[in-house]
Amino acid sequence: MEFVEPVERQELRKAVADLARSYGHEYYAEKARGGGHTTELWDEAGRLGYLGVSVPEEYGGGGAGIGDLAAVCEEFCAAGTPMLLMVVSPAICATVIARYGTDEQKKQWLPGFANGSVRMAFGITEPDAGSNSHRITTTARRDGSDWILSGRKVFISGVDEADAVLIVGRTEDAKTGRLKPALYIVPTDTPGFEYKQIPMDLVSADKQFGLFLDDVRLPAEALVGSEDAAIAQLFAGLNPERIMGASFSVGIARYALAKGVAYAKERSVFGVPIGSHQGLAHPLAQVKIELELAKLMTQKAAALYDSGDDFGAGEAANMAKYAGAEVAIRAVDQAVQVHGGNGLATEYGLGTLLGAVRVGRIAPVSREMVLNFVAQHSLGLPKSY
Ligand SMILES: Cc1cc2nc3c(=O)[nH]c(=O)nc-3n(C[C@H](O)[C@H](O)[C@H](O)COP(=O)(O)OP(=O)(O)OC[C@H]3O[C@@H](n4cnc5c(N)ncnc54)[C@H](O)[C@@H]3O)c2cc1C
Repeated sequence: MEFVEPVERQELRKAVADLARSYGHEYYAEKARGGGHTTELWDEAGRLGYLGVSVPEEYGGGGAGIGDLAAVCEEFCAAGTPMLLMVVSPAICATVIARYGTDEQKKQWLPGFANGSVRMAFGITEPDAGSNSHRITTTARRDGSDWILSGRKVFISGVDEADAVLIVGRTEDAKTGRLKPALYIVPTDTPGFEYKQIPMDLVSADKQFGLFLDDVRLPAEALVGSEDAAIAQLFAGLNPERIMGASFSVGIARYALAKGVAYAKERSVFGVPIGSHQGLAHPLAQVKIELELAKLMTQKAAALYDSGDDFGAGEAANMAKYAGAEVAIRAVDQAVQVHGGNGLATEYGLGTLLGAVRVGRIAPVSREMVLNFVAQHSLGLPKSY
């Protein structure tokens, strides 16, 4: 068992951190507040191969695993430049296509994921279904060899930046008539596909959208892989999503903790640095412990996933996502507290993250749904809903 990351990953972290710091949180906050995107940072990271580390080598990627992609995501967040689209585009979409796409789909999309030139959003959440993804009603029907897709989605991140959205829909089983999931790649310029930004009280460079799919005609090859393997495909994408969600939170927690600690050392109010008061030192120490635990579980989940253990990764990925979200909320809150009034002053770059860390408790799967999963699957307790 190894508890130290391989040298290559350590070097990758350092290179990504150097790039992210050269942009910095001010760049991020300015883009986010002005309604812009972190396009320059994304493109540069893409050109340097950081966004494509987990894309197979034969398509121009780094051929590594989700563990490396999660490390990249964590470093961007730790430098104060959290790119939400990383959780979706290279992690869910590229993984699903690499594992289950047809040869044509791989040739069409993976080189762009490898160098970051392709951005793909992921749409599963629906207004009426919410956390109950069994109730999604976006439905595809055949028309000759084409598919006609209709439905609605909400809170889909980054659609305005995306070339396409990987939509989770349903098709009717020809034998049983029951609806079963199916994944479609829907280019954002397809007629009948419309999206509208949802005003959010979040400082984020990646925005959320409602999608309206009104008889969207798609060619046969828009269906990812085969119609019958969609459940496996979906799970192949959801574990990386949770692992990336965890690394996103862990990175922001690192950013906030570093700021809190630095300020606690330099600010003096009663003749000694405020960090010498246990009322401030202990909560920071607690964040440090919970941060290391969350990071360890994220690495475990990624290692299980990269070793091909999808089932084992599921439990660890849920736990990591939970732990990451909780420590990020605590870290930002405590860093704000340590800064006193400055904690909410724009100059100190912490207030921007109060909403961002809160997202981790809700998405991609809510705290309560993780607790349901653990209660039921890890503890064998009866299902409560
Ligand atoms: C910033 C942001 C970005 C997002 N990006 C995307 C994206 O790119 N793609 C995408 O598909 N979705 C995205 N989402 C949606 C996100 O995945 C959902 O918001 C999340 O899954 C929760 O669903 P919901 O909002 O419908 O809440 P609901 O399902 O309505 O739940 C409301 C509350 O009830 C609780 N609850 C529900 N059922 C139970 C139960 N059985 N037991 C206990 N508690 C329960 C929930 O935990 C929650 O606290 C995003 C959301 C946000 C906020």
